[in-house]
Amino acid sequence: MVAIDGPAGSGKSTVARALATALNWSFLDTGAMYRAVTTEVLACGVSPDDVDGVAAIASAAVIATEPVVRINGRDVDQEIRGAPVNQAVSAVAANPAVRAAMVSRQRAWVAAQTRGTVVEGRDIGTVVFPNASLKVFLTASLSERARRRGDEGATSVSRRDDADRARAVSPLRRASDAIVIDTTGRSIDEVVKEIVTCLKTPN
Ligand code: C5P
Repeated sequence: MVAIDGPAGSGKSTVARALATALNWSFLDTGAMYRAVTTEVLACGVSPDDVDGVAAIASAAVIATEPVVRINGRDVDQEIRGAPVNQAVSAVAANPAVRAAMVSRQRAWVAAQTRGTVVEGRDIGTVVFPNASLKVFLTASLSERARRRGDEGATSVSRRDDADRARAVSPLRRASDAIVIDTTGRSIDEVVKEIVTCLKTPN
């Protein structure tokens, strides 16, 4: 199992997906799960800061991330990338009950896989799978990350990163045993090859 963490736009989803394809392993985008819950919170007219209201939605939610992101059967694949979700997702993800609900789903998902897994997020190597066989922490310059996030813009990307780093529960941070890869100016292929090399090298 490979855990990939890092800030917004560091390349996690792209690299994790390409790595899973290269290894013929399964891939889980945990950010899509927090985004899906946020979509449902907004659709229900609940404030992202309503701790109990948001927790109730998260614990009852049925979430799928492949082949499209769905929550309670509703296709939210496009909606999860929109500005309202970018704006609200960090508050939803800071809710301890939301995290508990998502972490148990993430662990159950990995346990159900019959092949290797690549899981990406913010707390995968630190909290969700501290025994992952390889932990990778991706970084990139803010301007590169903002460029990759397109319409979201540098202000929103950096606001989300600050909120994700500062939260009390499972903040974004590098696990002490994670390898750090700066993806600025590097191709997906190069980064994937570097990770595959690390996987093959016994530590
Ligand atoms: O990776 P992505 O940008 O889609 O993640 C959206 C948001 O979900 C992050 O800004 C963060 O607040 C939250 N998240 C999290 N823990 C994870 C994955 C994502 O808190 N494991």
